Amino acid sequence: MTASPEALPTESPANDPLQPNSMGMRITIGFFIVIPLIAVLLAIPVAWGGYLGWTDIALVFVMWTITAAGITVGYHRFFTHGSFKANRAVKIALAIAGSMALEGSLDQWVADHRKHHKFSDEIGDPHSPWRFGTSKRAIAKGLFYAHVGWFFDPQNTSIAKYAPDIAADKDLRRISRYFPLAITTTLLLPALLGGLITWSWIGALTAFFWAGIVRVALVHHVTWSINSICHVFGTRPFNSRDLSSNVAWLAIPSFGESWHNLHHVDQTSARHGVLRGQIDLSAEIIRGLEKLGWARDVRWPKPERIAAKLKDPAMRRRVPGLPASAPTS
Ligand SMILES: [Zn+2]
Ligand SMILES: [Zn+2]
Repeated sequence: MTASPEALPTESPANDPLQPNSMGMRITIGFFIVIPLIAVLLAIPVAWGGYLGWTDIALVFVMWTITAAGITVGYHRFFTHGSFKANRAVKIALAIAGSMALEGSLDQWVADHRKHHKFSDEIGDPHSPWRFGTSKRAIAKGLFYAHVGWFFDPQNTSIAKYAPDIAADKDLRRISRYFPLAITTTLLLPALLGGLITWSWIGALTAFFWAGIVRVALVHHVTWSINSICHVFGTRPFNSRDLSSNVAWLAIPSFGESWHNLHHVDQTSARHGVLRGQIDLSAEIIRGLEKLGWARDVRWPKPERIAAKLKDPAMRRRVPGLPASAPTS
């Protein structure tokens, strides 16, 4: 176990935000998260043709791509882990796109996430699903905490300690200051586009609902699933010192972030889906930026390094660019 001055004791009721009436709080928050999502899914066939159309779907797709990539390529791989270098315009664009996902300011996000890597699944991890123990009940509580509960924990990770580079950047400070503008833009831009494309108020309203509110909620849940689901379920082909896992069915909506077991053993790699057949849209976007000359010094995975971290040597055949059998010397 690693400990730090900021480490949270796992079982201390004083630091456990769910402790007072924990079941009641879980049911309440769970109600506000799960029920609206189910309601939205049930609403789709009812609304189709009237209050949901192809324009809305297209705008959901566009806004999802901008904001999800803002988090995965921007907040995560570029700002947190330095998987590649970029010029000032790309840096600013990624920071704005990530802010529009409404997951908090860039400096706090980076600080929390670096701390997650430093203490992953140990005391001090801001959002480990294992913090309450390993019984079924403790894991259920931990999954909820890792997914969304930690967000309401008053203990903030120190930005000065974990993200001094972000805090020192004038452009990024300005973007953080204008965070309310990111909120307005991410909700009103789809409304504006929907209104202009359909030339109707109802078109603006439905785009606001689907490509604004519903899309923000879906991107939130997919991102947060990496913290919850990808530390409990799935496969662990790599020798990581934590319980991070690969979850294939989340790969496309999460833009490749659900290849999370690899990410924990090779944090700066620009590609998380490193094995054959693992789709990683964020890596494809970074490759596109590289081809355009907008990203440089990209840290692409090295086949030998990947192979060395595999638990099962037979899996070597799934590493692109490697001979199937281990070299004999
Ligand atoms: Zn993790
Ligand atoms: Zn990371």
